[in-house]
Amino acid sequence: MTQDADRNGLYPGNFPRSYWLEVPPIAGSQEPLPAKAGIVVIGSGLAGASAGYWLQKAGFESVVMVDYETEQAATFRNAGHILYGTVESMKALVEIHGEEKAREIWQFSIDICEQVGTTIHELDIAADYKQDGYLVVAIDETEDGECKESVELLNRMGYHSDYITPRRVKELGFKNCFGARYEKGSAQAHPTKFRNGLVRAFLKQGGAYFGGAKVTDVTEHGDGVRVTTERGTIECDAVVLATNAYTPLFAPFFEGLVDPFRGQVLTSKPLKHRFPVKYPHSFDHGYQYALVTEDNRLLLGGWRHHSTTREMGLYSIETNPHIEAGLKQFARDYYAINEEIEWEFSWSGIMAASRTSLPFIGNTSSPRVYSCLGYTGHGFSWAHGSAKLLADIMAGNPLPEVARYFNPKLAR
Ligand SMILES: Cc1cc2nc3c(=O)[nH]c(=O)nc-3n(C[C@H](O)[C@H](O)[C@H](O)COP(=O)(O)OP(=O)(O)OC[C@H]3O[C@@H](n4cnc5c(N)ncnc54)[C@H](O)[C@@H]3O)c2cc1C
Repeated sequence: MTQDADRNGLYPGNFPRSYWLEVPPIAGSQEPLPAKAGIVVIGSGLAGASAGYWLQKAGFESVVMVDYETEQAATFRNAGHILYGTVESMKALVEIHGEEKAREIWQFSIDICEQVGTTIHELDIAADYKQDGYLVVAIDETEDGECKESVELLNRMGYHSDYITPRRVKELGFKNCFGARYEKGSAQAHPTKFRNGLVRAFLKQGGAYFGGAKVTDVTEHGDGVRVTTERGTIECDAVVLATNAYTPLFAPFFEGLVDPFRGQVLTSKPLKHRFPVKYPHSFDHGYQYALVTEDNRLLLGGWRHHSTTREMGLYSIETNPHIEAGLKQFARDYYAINEEIEWEFSWSGIMAASRTSLPFIGNTSSPRVYSCLGYTGHGFSWAHGSAKLLADIMAGNPLPEVARYFNPKLAR
């Protein structure tokens, strides 16, 4: 076992460190917590950091962000995909919601993907952002048919998407695959660099960020909210829950609305192989997802549907050796790489499955307690965009019609 493999958790029982954590996340202050604040944002991942940023832009002052065990957040453990859509395909969205609602949700998903690019540009964040598209690769005939149907449906609805033939898929460096669907608007970025850029902007504008402050209770009373943490109590005017999968652990309103599930990722050492597709891609209905990092590593995640529990209901970020082995085999089976792949990083992270398959953005049962969470695996753009929408809700700004679909109170 090499020292690197040990440190990066390639073997079970070790702290599973992700490739993205090679860039250290900015950590919160260990100073005593303030007794009072305007707004307390709980969580410092993509959602919390975005909420802090957008709340300040909306004119709120005295915004305090708290977190604990920063590096365990899914934000630093994902695949860096910034994708159009939701966890459901457009076909499924239309079947579930009807065409009009599906269109509204899809358009919103495009807008928030674009928003990530705009924020990166405006804040001049060096986050390795590239808007180079997304390839959905079919690994059997049924999925190939679904790719064709999706392309047809998306184009009929006015969204551009291309069908890629099996022959071209082979030329693109895959083997044992069928056709694919390509979407050019999707993007990728380094999640830690993006999140750190948001935190920096938040701190520069006077925001305060405290680490190690595990919240155990949030209670609204006469004229405010009491946030109880293991490091003390903060009295504030309002609270934002940006704690995604972890929310039901201290906010009973979200019990049954969001459930944790664990995703797992492997990342190789830099390879000599020249990958024709370096941008986000997925296989098998999105159950495997991948990209090629800036330093030419294959980053491959998924395989949880081969686990008997589907990794549902878990909060432990220990890696599952069965999934790790499955991912390694998957790489051998579906990538035409004439080189032995040496794996350097293996990690997992906890996502939130939303009961409605849409995020919960807005006011909860308590008028001063707000949420932006429940991204069901699509949190990169959704966390940033949801936080912007939430800041507009809290500021009383005009809202897009689509906001009504994310109202947490209507989900109960
Ligand atoms: C393996 C994997 C692959 C993924 N791939 C992608 C992808 O390619 N594209 C994509 O869009 N999404 C992906 N996701 C999902 C995405 O990473 C998440 O949806 C997103 O990071 C959620 O951000 P968040 O800030 O809401 O939550 P998190 O990043 O989980 O952050 C939660 C925050 O809450 C804080 N917290 C929790 N409980 C408490 C408490 N009691 N007190 C104080 N603080 C608390 C934590 O400290 C943390 O700061 C993936 C996730 C995983 C795990």
